[in-house]
Amino acid sequence: MSVAEATTPGRDFIRDIVQADLDAKRHTTVVTRFPPEPNGYLHIGHAKSICLNFGVAEEFGGRCHLRFDDTNPTKEEQEYIDAIEKDVRWLGFDWGKHLYHASDYFEQLYQWAEDLIRDGKAYVDDQSQDEMRMNRGTLTEPGRNSPFRDRSVDENLDLLRRMRAGEFPNGARVLRAKIDMASGNINLRDPVLYRILHANHPRTGTKWSIYPSYDYAHGQSDAIEGITHSICTLEFEDHRPLYDWFLDNIKGIPSHPHQYEFARLNLTYTILSKRVLTLLVRDGHVSGWDDPRMPTLAGMRRRGVPPEALRDFVKRIGVAKANSTVDIAMFEHAVREVLNKGAQRRMAVLRPLKVVIENYPDGQSEELDAVNHPDDPALGTRKIRFGRELYVERDDFMENPVKGFFRLSPGKEVRLRYAYFVTCREVVKNTAGEVIELRCTYDPATRGGDAPDGRKVRGTIHWVSATDSVPAEVRVYNSLFNSPNPDAANFAADLNPNSLEVLAGARLEPSLATSGNSPAPVQFERQGYFCTDPDTKPGKLVFNRTVGLRDTWAKVSAAKVSGAKTA
Ligand code: ATP
Ligand code: MG
Repeated sequence: MSVAEATTPGRDFIRDIVQADLDAKRHTTVVTRFPPEPNGYLHIGHAKSICLNFGVAEEFGGRCHLRFDDTNPTKEEQEYIDAIEKDVRWLGFDWGKHLYHASDYFEQLYQWAEDLIRDGKAYVDDQSQDEMRMNRGTLTEPGRNSPFRDRSVDENLDLLRRMRAGEFPNGARVLRAKIDMASGNINLRDPVLYRILHANHPRTGTKWSIYPSYDYAHGQSDAIEGITHSICTLEFEDHRPLYDWFLDNIKGIPSHPHQYEFARLNLTYTILSKRVLTLLVRDGHVSGWDDPRMPTLAGMRRRGVPPEALRDFVKRIGVAKANSTVDIAMFEHAVREVLNKGAQRRMAVLRPLKVVIENYPDGQSEELDAVNHPDDPALGTRKIRFGRELYVERDDFMENPVKGFFRLSPGKEVRLRYAYFVTCREVVKNTAGEVIELRCTYDPATRGGDAPDGRKVRGTIHWVSATDSVPAEVRVYNSLFNSPNPDAANFAADLNPNSLEVLAGARLEPSLATSGNSPAPVQFERQGYFCTDPDTKPGKLVFNRTVGLRDTWAKVSAAKVSGAKTA
């Protein structure tokens, strides 16, 4: 995919299909749905699906449902339901009154199961899970019929009703479709429709002792809701014949939705599997689902990623039919593009080194003007205080500068942003030999940052006043995994021990203390984009780095979307 293709909005094979269906009057209203299972938080892969489903509905004047596929009460929780709703809204989409649950349809699904039994198309199987697995066959060998396959309709109905009534323990029996144990498609080898599960469901409580399988519930839920385009990821391609079998064999099915599969999003240095994300949280590798290192929408929000950047990113990667892996740098580029436009500039020193301006009068200070955004004069200026004692970044000083280092070093002159030229005169060290302070002089004639005699300096560095700045903890995040394609099966071995760097002694411009509860990210000049973390409390400012300034993606012109990778 070229960048040009990827950034052309609005056209992909799904949208082409929808357009053709409308043109041919196969449908008059487009109805899509986003169908999460509430067994975890949404991640950036889901964002692709959300933007596609809600986006298509919006663009073609239809509607998109939010439907919880809540068929497995052992893994599903109200916390996840609430988080999913919040995240979809945050991303900028609205399902209006079209909020549904597979559990809304439990009674109807059950009635259809009885109908299938009456038509000789479903049976209760007493085999153990192991026996069923052994008899399923393999990709090259057909399966074997269950000894219970030819039960009478009456016996099957009786057993299913007693399963429903809670007479049997978990796992004692299942209801299966009677299709074809020799089918080349394993999904068609008498798949399970119902299993016994004595579990408390977030919505139906203990009403049900049996729950439909995902495969049995999914397509029929779409049919009940009149979904015109059932969009899902490629791994469900082999399930489509089964979904069609249900729709063709259930009498009185209200509609026959068509399923279309697209490639799921994979990102370098990232694992997008709810199973793995759940383990990261459960085993304490991260602080929670909203840990800013997580690829979850909650984590990204906390990290300061604007929803607009996610939508732009999804638009850029496009919708294709072949699996691929997208470079995380492309996502960061989208974040920077949005933040660069809107984020106000501030100065912050993350690893402070004290500077004393020896020729600046003791006890005196002054205010200087700093611009809030270099490209947007409407955002105005603010006052920053300059005085005798300042902090600069440790990295901006080298006692023995290497070639090409133009910042502070003994005897060298640099510009302090928005302030004066200063020259380093002396280096103060502690008994361990570490540099703890720089003694400098300033040139009062260079106020505002330029020399009237036209003298040039090669380095400009940021700084804050020692007396006026506020302390803060700044959290800098790196990727959670070391390798570009982390192995989900062995993820713990690949965790990056340096994914979180806590800079406990940072010093910020005082204006950042009042931005306390505003989540809008700012740019710390020369450092990146940062936002306040909810851990901020009175007396303790905490900032997250959303993303650094360096952009590797912009330099890469064409395809950074690498070739096929099978999940
Ligand atoms: P798991 O991560 O365990 O595979 P899941 O992400 O498939 O689970 P669902 O709640 O079923 O969990 O996902 C809801 C919808 O989001 C589905 O339609 C699914 O196809 C889509 N989706 C999930 N992951 C991605 C992804 N990486 N890229 C695009 N769409 C995705
Ligand atoms: Mg799924």
